[in-house]
Amino acid sequence: METTKITIAGPRGKMGIEAVKMVLETEKFELVSVIDHRHGGKQLHDILNFVQKEVPVYGDARSAFEQTKPDVLVDLTTPEAGYHHTKWALEYGIRPVVGTTGFSNDQLNELTELAETKGIGCIIAPNFAIGAVLMMKFSQMASKYFQDVEIMEMHHDQKLDAPSGTAVKTAEMIQEVRTEKVQGHPNEKETIPGARGANLQGMRIHSVRLPGLIAHQQVMFGASGQILTIRHDSTNRASFMSGVKVSVETVMQLDHLVYGLENILE
Ligand code: NAP
Repeated sequence: METTKITIAGPRGKMGIEAVKMVLETEKFELVSVIDHRHGGKQLHDILNFVQKEVPVYGDARSAFEQTKPDVLVDLTTPEAGYHHTKWALEYGIRPVVGTTGFSNDQLNELTELAETKGIGCIIAPNFAIGAVLMMKFSQMASKYFQDVEIMEMHHDQKLDAPSGTAVKTAEMIQEVRTEKVQGHPNEKETIPGARGANLQGMRIHSVRLPGLIAHQQVMFGASGQILTIRHDSTNRASFMSGVKVSVETVMQLDHLVYGLENILE
């Protein structure tokens, strides 16, 4: 059976550990290497005790690509490292599946152009949970009828970027169908800066960070006499792995960059 060769960047992270488990448990996937900036030169079982197989750890992404020749890079690191890994992977003709969030629009545009030039697939998804994708789609549907919307995203306190990639993506999807509107009272004043949250075309985005949370988002729509709330909760990180798996399979068939899991689901 032909397998898809995979390199995972960030294998010690909360998402990375789940991705390592998923890849090792999937018959048609083969974990050929991992990228970990602190443990180059070791074996994966030296840093993750549930791993039995020999999988080399590289401190540098380009060495991992040259020496283990993966088909796909799964990146679950930080915005800065993830951007470089994705760019280098595309340059080496390796297809990235990126869960790392926090890329700027300029970076996304540059990666889109690079994938196009190379003619290879790349999937960047701020949320790999199928339920979260539905929450975004339902929110987009609702915003046709409700112009006033506030997004509350809630995450664990180790998250580096705010607002979350999912909140930004939700706002962008809503923006496609919602007429621009400044919400709240026209003369409203923040007595403490930031009280009304981030402002995207008049929509407000609020970021909550607390230990104990994983990844949650609530989109509230208001109109005269009614409130509609659409909410999704990821209660563990395994919830993201079915989306990663589908993305690894799909990215092999693509010849361009796709941003958002909703664009590859039927
Ligand atoms: P995490 O637990 O902090 O893991 C990040 C890992 O990346 C850490 O082990 C870190 O190592 C490692 N790392 C940092 N720089 C690196 C480099 N240059 N090379 C290799 N590894 C490097 O974070 P997480 O919760 O797993 O999340 C990872 C990313 O996925 C974040 O951007 C998060 O927002 C995103 N995320 C996406 C989804 C989705 O569905 N798309 C869901 C949840 C989270 P050190 O700590 O030792 O530096």
